[in-house]
Amino acid sequence: MEKKGLLVVVSGFAGSGKGTLMKELVKRYKTYALSVSATTRNPRPGEVDGREYYFKTTEEFEQMIEEDAFVEYARYVNNYYGTPKKYVFDQLEAGNDVILEIEIQGALQIQKKFPEALLLFVTPPDAITLKNRLVGRGTEDAATIDLRLARASEESQGIEEYDYIVVNDDLEECVLTMHSIIQNEKYKTFRNLSFINEIRDGLKSFAKGD
Ligand code: 5GP
Repeated sequence: MEKKGLLVVVSGFAGSGKGTLMKELVKRYKTYALSVSATTRNPRPGEVDGREYYFKTTEEFEQMIEEDAFVEYARYVNNYYGTPKKYVFDQLEAGNDVILEIEIQGALQIQKKFPEALLLFVTPPDAITLKNRLVGRGTEDAATIDLRLARASEESQGIEEYDYIVVNDDLEECVLTMHSIIQNEKYKTFRNLSFINEIRDGLKSFAKGD
């Protein structure tokens, strides 16, 4: 079977709980590597540079764009966010499944560049739960929350571009569902063409009487 890891994109509305979900997935299963993005937004209380994000100035970020250091990048609610290339390629090569927790514009760039990537969309059970989670988190002011809700409404238009939609109602159940979706995906025939060809060649040689 294919030895290279799977590139997995996870998007979801702000407040969908996808951050917690990803942390849990990575903690529980050793096959996953969570990519750390660069951003120009300010750190929230408790966030550590190099752990949640690499916090950059706009100048630094634009310099990285020029150096072609990102697999994808986008602007989201007045800030830049981008995925540094090196970690992603190194981890995939090492056979780990790399998770990019990114918004939809970045997800679509990845889908175009890497058609074999798997795209998952995480959503809360309903719209009101989303609003309550955003307000309850208390990390953003009212104006930012409004911007994020407006953005969520826009993003909801693009959900069909993703391969799977996962409802995050119960964290435990959602972690198991995501893990099984990702792992099952590896058995798709189109992901294992070199393995299939090897078996074919082996069988051909038997048919010739070798
Ligand atoms: P937050 O500011 O809440 O941490 O993230 C805002 C949005 O940016 C989230 O939807 C998050 O998934 C997305 N995001 C985080 N890192 C990246 C990235 O590297 N690229 C893109 N395109 N979006 C990102």
